[in-house]
Order: sequence, then C-alpha cells, then structure tokens
Amino acid sequence: MALMITDECINCDVCEPECPNEAISPGEEIYEIDPGKCTECVGHYDTPQCVEVCPVDCIPKDPDHVESEDQLMAKYQKLIQG
Ligand code: SF4
Ligand code: SF4
Repeated sequence: MALMITDECINCDVCEPECPNEAISPGEEIYEIDPGKCTECVGHYDTPQCVEVCPVDCIPKDPDHVESEDQLMAKYQKLIQG
C-alpha cells in the first residue's frame, strides 16, 4: 500500500527530504504523498522513512491504494528505471 498523510500534519517539512522516491510534496494545505511513487520504502529501506521521522504520527497506510509487497517492489523497479 502507498501511505497517506492525514490532516493532523503540522507542515513541519521533515518527511519530504527523507523520501527516497520523492513522493512527498507540500500540498495546498498539508503535505501530500503521490501514491504512484510511494513504495512504503520497499527497495530502499526496511521501514517507511517518513513514518520514522514524523513527529505527530500522521502517516498511515492508504486504504485506497492497497498493494502487496511484490507490487511495491515492481513499482520500485519501475521508478528506478525512470
Ligand atoms: S513510505 Fe517511503 S516512499 Fe512512501 S512516502 Fe514515505 S518515505 Fe516516501
Ligand atoms: S513529518 Fe508529518 S507533520 Fe511533518 S510535514 Fe511530514 S507528514 Fe506533516
């Protein structure tokens, strides 16, 4: 699954530079995750880096973007091929 940022986000900006896929960007009101780019950090790290650093714990899994580990790995492969 891709992850999502909820409206509890305080726009602290610490997650954006941690994302290895550049999936996080400032949205109109709060930060947003591009589900086409988020691999849950599969391929790069053992744990989602944005979740590790978020001070308010507002980055759950996105129920609208359910994906298996294999699908996340395939997304990673596609992303690194550019
Ligand atoms: S889980 Fe990883 S890939 Fe997904 S948004 Fe967070 S840092 Fe980026
Ligand atoms: S780390 Fe958490 S609170 Fe900070 S910008 Fe990212 S999602 Fe928002």
